Amino acid sequence: AKALGGGRFEFFTHDRHGMALGRLHMEIGLRVAMERNELKLVYQPQRHIFSGEMAGVEALVRWHEPRLGMVSPGDFIPLAEESGLIVLIGEWILRQACAQAQQWLAAGFPTRVAVNVSPRQFHDGDLANLVAAVLQECRLPAHLLELELTESILMQNIEQTLAILDRLHAMGVKIAIDDFGTGYSSLSYLKRLPIDVLKIDQSFVRDIADDPDDRAIVSAIIGLAHSLQMDVIAEGVETEAQLAFLRERQCGIMQGYLFSRPVGGDEVLRLLRTQCLA
Ligand code: C2E
Ligand code: CA
Ligand code: CA
Ligand code: CA
Repeated sequence: AKALGGGRFEFFTHDRHGMALGRLHMEIGLRVAMERNELKLVYQPQRHIFSGEMAGVEALVRWHEPRLGMVSPGDFIPLAEESGLIVLIGEWILRQACAQAQQWLAAGFPTRVAVNVSPRQFHDGDLANLVAAVLQECRLPAHLLELELTESILMQNIEQTLAILDRLHAMGVKIAIDDFGTGYSSLSYLKRLPIDVLKIDQSFVRDIADDPDDRAIVSAIIGLAHSLQMDVIAEGVETEAQLAFLRERQCGIMQGYLFSRPVGGDEVLRLLRTQCLA
């Protein structure tokens, strides 16, 4: 592995053999990482744009590899997905996030946690049964769990998808579409599937202060969500100018560095307490 900037590492060397080796090392590393507790979750707070209150958090996984330092999920999640290891890792992530949400609840702060679900985890695992078991184990009310799914997950095997989502929805679990608008998909699934939340991808949000196309797209997504009575969350909000536009268009919830970076579970609790005093 060779170092990139900012503590990130590139596992893939450029020749084909080296690349295979890099992948194998990372796969073994990931298995060991789970046993050695090298995986951690951080939580990025989401904020109601109008009241200013925290709306919930998104759980994001981190891997602190002892020799390499921080490995980004953008680097290891795709590999875990390819190898199938994501089913195991995803189960750990779900359990960890629900246990954390139970701690916030016990401290007097019912806070919704959103968990990313990968395609293999959705279609190969037994997601509905797993979620039911974990909620019961953690004594977490189902409405405090949100699952983030991408459009590509929803488009694979629509009948199976519908059956799984109906079961989750019947339990009271919230369903969000992540990176909305970036996948290839038909909008008709929005009618058939029990979707609660649309998350506007940060690639659309980035230039809303001055790009007319992006402003049009974001406005349209917000309008669509409102018409379908879904919540809408804008991701990757970094500037006051972006926030001003979202406020003007009545976007309900924002997530991004402007409000908070992803932080540890204790820091979320501190934020909840401060908000309570304000
Ligand atoms: P995502 O689900 O779209 O997550 C949002 C990403 O945007 C996160 O990167 C977050 O740290 C980053 N972000 C948040 N606010 C801002 C902002 O204001 N500006 C910018 N530039 N970025 C912002 P992260 O944590 O590196 O995760 C990258 C991707 O890895 C995630 O994209 C998701 O696809 C995947 N991932 C992360 N955690 C998990 C997980 O627990 N399970 C699964 N299956 N995938 C995960
Ligand atoms: Ca997400
Ligand atoms: Ca996203
Ligand atoms: Ca553009």
